Amino acid sequence: MPAGVYIPRGYMLGYQGYPPLEEIGVMSEIRSQGWDIAPRPDGSAVAVCVQFGKLLGALARDLPIVHEHVVSELVRDDSGRVVGVVADGPGGATTTFEADLVVACDGVGSPVREMAGLEAKVEPLAEASLTWMCDEPGGVSFGMAYLSDGSHIGTLGWPEGSAGWRTCEKVGAEAALAPGLDAIKEMWVRLLPESEKGISGLTSMDQVRYSEPRLLSAPEWWRPGVVIIGDSAHFFGPETGVSSGIGLGDAHALAEAIRQNPNDPDAACESYVMWRQPVIRPYEAMDPGRQRMVLAGGQQATPEERWPPAG
Ligand SMILES: Cc1cc2nc3c(=O)[nH]c(=O)nc-3n(C[C@H](O)[C@H](O)[C@H](O)COP(=O)(O)OP(=O)(O)OC[C@H]3O[C@@H](n4cnc5c(N)ncnc54)[C@H](O)[C@@H]3O)c2cc1C
Repeated sequence: MPAGVYIPRGYMLGYQGYPPLEEIGVMSEIRSQGWDIAPRPDGSAVAVCVQFGKLLGALARDLPIVHEHVVSELVRDDSGRVVGVVADGPGGATTTFEADLVVACDGVGSPVREMAGLEAKVEPLAEASLTWMCDEPGGVSFGMAYLSDGSHIGTLGWPEGSAGWRTCEKVGAEAALAPGLDAIKEMWVRLLPESEKGISGLTSMDQVRYSEPRLLSAPEWWRPGVVIIGDSAHFFGPETGVSSGIGLGDAHALAEAIRQNPNDPDAACESYVMWRQPVIRPYEAMDPGRQRMVLAGGQQATPEERWPPAG
């Protein structure tokens, strides 16, 4: 992406991401630009709903970031150890960046993970997801209701917009979107009345999306000279709402492991894995998209809750 460009969206920063932001001194700035979710009597909040770009901007500030470059190759020494990356820039220019440790935070599709030969286990979820987003600020920072089968419908609101999500049947985009805008808005407000203000700003089906999320886990996170963190190492699915907070925590934990092993990247990676696995693996094992606790007899969504509606 060019500097300052990002795909606009609201976003729930969970408390798991607070410590690294506090340590680099941008947490209060981020919080002041968003809306608290579940504020508590001690003044803290479980999460903050904020425009994604505010966080990206605060994180990027004062860092020597090279924009508009795509990592296309890992550089290896004679022993096979990764010692850098080749990146393609604008106009076909390539640059080699040397590194004691390449930290790949390149998302679910992580090209670096593949180049490093690290395995990714991808598991489709049984349900699909219906989401929307618009620039009408929501009436609430967060709202959620459980459906009879244990799945849920929710909404996020922030000063510049709002969004919503719900599980739906895996019927493909065409069938899921066929009922149209008014039907989607009616269903949302009926099942989640607090979404009414935000969803009133939805004016086009271009603002509605159907997707079939997949979980991702990687049995191993590093090879000599390269380590994967964030979504490239794990994706917990849309129901947890923790993915980015955990990714920020990965970065924080890795930074600490490197601080403790300044001249030994392999020892830093070993230390990182030892401390980070007990955090990550339980989230992977307990993803609510895999299995849910439901009330007796409540295995099915009721006809009013189902999407797309019957007929
Ligand atoms: C619609 C939506 C809503 C979400 N809402 C929330 C939420 O409310 N709360 C939450 O905690 N999480 C949420 N998530 C998940 C969250 O966005 C991710 O967990 C988080 O962005 C992961 O960060 P990351 O840096 O690991 O990966 P990404 O954000 O995917 O960033 C990877 C980056 O690497 C770049 N890249 C890829 N390949 C290369 C290459 N070869 N060379 C150079 N760069 C490359 C990509 O362009 C991208 O910028 C949401 C996700 C989606 C899609």
